[in-house]
Amino acid sequence: MKEQLFPHKGTVYLVGAGPGDPDLLTIRAVNVLKSAGVIVYDRLANPKILSYVQEHAERIYVGKRPGRPSVSQHQINRILIAKANEGKTVVRLKGGDPFIFGRGGEECEALAGEKIPFEIVPGISSALAAPAYAGIPLTHRGIARSFTVVTGYTNKREELFRNWEHIAHSETLVILMGMKNLELIISQLVLLGRPIDTPIAIVEKATYRHQRTVTGTLENILERAAYLSSPATIVIGELAKLANTLSWYNEPVILEQDSKPELRTALTV
Ligand code: SAH
Repeated sequence: MKEQLFPHKGTVYLVGAGPGDPDLLTIRAVNVLKSAGVIVYDRLANPKILSYVQEHAERIYVGKRPGRPSVSQHQINRILIAKANEGKTVVRLKGGDPFIFGRGGEECEALAGEKIPFEIVPGISSALAAPAYAGIPLTHRGIARSFTVVTGYTNKREELFRNWEHIAHSETLVILMGMKNLELIISQLVLLGRPIDTPIAIVEKATYRHQRTVTGTLENILERAAYLSSPATIVIGELAKLANTLSWYNEPVILEQDSKPELRTALTV
């Protein structure tokens, strides 16, 4: 529709690539990827997903590049606008869902400002997929009627715990980008009155073959999760412990508090 309004401009599709496993792409995402003249992607998108893109399509990587300055959001916006102005069909591929901590909104604002037609293809967010692949329902009759998704990282440190008097008491709390600040997050939750025996699960590399889940409580999770790395999704609340009984993708790693680091490594390879 919009393409008829702006016949000389290509459409930009903001496509959610899901949490990792290409099988979790939507049919719409695959169709759009197949039609792309240009694909602009970053680090979180599983490279296997690019196999749906036509050979002749231009591929532009805008993720972090070790040892080189990373591409700024402004530059990404400029690339999307320039390629659409050339009349190309542009796919901006993003991990999970483009509108959940994906700066999708900012990109849409830039496109709208230049009158470039755009469409959003929602993706399966890791906020949903990581708990699902760990066997953790986000809601459960009689236990949790709501869940909150929050970021565990902000550029401005003083904003990290804004509204947390409320957020800390979410029935199920899902935290993305929380691994760097895990220790701070745990102490903040306890400080705000969350009992130290509150269950917590951390799901690392959800939906990938080497997915790992570590379960515990606010009291012992720091030690248990010491060897986990990003990307990981943190789930806090009574339902987090269901990973111990409902895990179906692979077994959760439940470590004794006093286990030795060597043993920990052995248990998780
Ligand atoms: N738009 C994305 C989120 C981007 S923020 C989405 O909807 O999923 C990046 C954060 O997402 C990571 O720090 C991590 O917390 C989470 N994440 C992304 N992929 C993940 C995966 N495969 N397993 C666990 N967490 C993941």
